[in-house]
Amino acid sequence: MEFSYLCTRCGAGYDLSPELTTCPVCRDEQKQDEPLRGVLEVKISGDLPEEALHDTEVLVQSLLPVPPEFFPPLPRVKGELWKPEKLCRELSLPGLRIMNDGSNPTGSFKDRASVLVSAYARQNGIDSIVLASTGNAGSSMAGIGAAAGQKVILFLPETAPPAKMIQSLQYGATLYKVAGNYDMAYDLSLDYSEKEGGMNRNTAWNPMTMEGKKTVSLDIYAQLGGRAPDRVLVPTGDGCIIGGVFKGFKDLLQFGLIDRMPRITAVQAEGSNALHRALASGSFDNRPSSTVADSISVDIPRNGYTALKYLQEYDGDTVCVSDQEIIEAQAHLSGNAGLFTEPAGAASWAGLLKLKETIQPGETVVVLATGSGLKDTATALKGIQMPEKTISKIEDIRG
Ligand SMILES: *Cc1c(COP(=O)(O)O)cnc(C)c1O
Repeated sequence: MEFSYLCTRCGAGYDLSPELTTCPVCRDEQKQDEPLRGVLEVKISGDLPEEALHDTEVLVQSLLPVPPEFFPPLPRVKGELWKPEKLCRELSLPGLRIMNDGSNPTGSFKDRASVLVSAYARQNGIDSIVLASTGNAGSSMAGIGAAAGQKVILFLPETAPPAKMIQSLQYGATLYKVAGNYDMAYDLSLDYSEKEGGMNRNTAWNPMTMEGKKTVSLDIYAQLGGRAPDRVLVPTGDGCIIGGVFKGFKDLLQFGLIDRMPRITAVQAEGSNALHRALASGSFDNRPSSTVADSISVDIPRNGYTALKYLQEYDGDTVCVSDQEIIEAQAHLSGNAGLFTEPAGAASWAGLLKLKETIQPGETVVVLATGSGLKDTATALKGIQMPEKTISKIEDIRG
């Protein structure tokens, strides 16, 4: 197989290189306070090996631009597709499935991008990786980097959930707490890697992030027994996960393994819905974001242009959910599926509850649950009642 880069904006082609991030031509036209211009997509050419048609592991390896020997020594990140039986009955949707990425090595979807970035850095002899994150990409890269023996330097907003910071420090990353939001951390990390070197893993800026995230679609395809679902609900902030979801199904289409793109829905928090607004109006405006789902809280969605283009091209859509709906959806999923997912992961469940009337009973619908609930217990506390009193003997229970 051969791999190259294609600019998602102007269509220019480039050879893979660790120095290339966004398209150099489009970057010259980059404006302040807008999504990245010229995000690069990996273009694949050649024929799939025969074996890839029968063996998912070979399929995934064949479609990734870095050979397996460079990957960190960890189990392959593949998520787990569940049938939540009780909820399938409750909603009369027998084809409902949850793709749980909370079971990944560091507890979030971000591991899909981190392993590919780690492998690409190693292939190119680069031993330090720099990034900004709302928390999960940072703790993910820190853990994957620890396994691979790479140095990881993180820029996180000071308001990031403590568990995500603690997790990153446990893995031995260098952590800079930024006195500002994710958008400020993003800019600082770019400045840092420009001056100090290292591979920058910022979402969408590093083309391997979207490419790594595409593996979710390959894993859904494989775990459904070699077919595409009808619909996928994706919690969306920067738009890199949803870009990866589209890219994975695009690859499967390109090689004739599926015959149509599933309907893909971006689920956004009402207080952070830049992509939703852009799909309605055709352009991005810059509005401050605020939501309990920290992982999808962004002012400027970095992969916004790419995500918007894919939504338009493949007839995708968006749905917005309130913080209250997210908090309720989190407890609903925990209590009825045994899946405790973080607020951003629960946002897609809230989106499903909102859209359920529009889904046919026969449809196969996959809801992405993108991170473990243990990563942000402060928000989860809002959805439950913590007992106030303590007991020391059984009689106290009744008293
Ligand atoms: C990063 C993240 C998202 C959103 O992904 P984007 O690429 O920013 O749209 C959703 N859920 C979780 C748990 C995440 O960590």
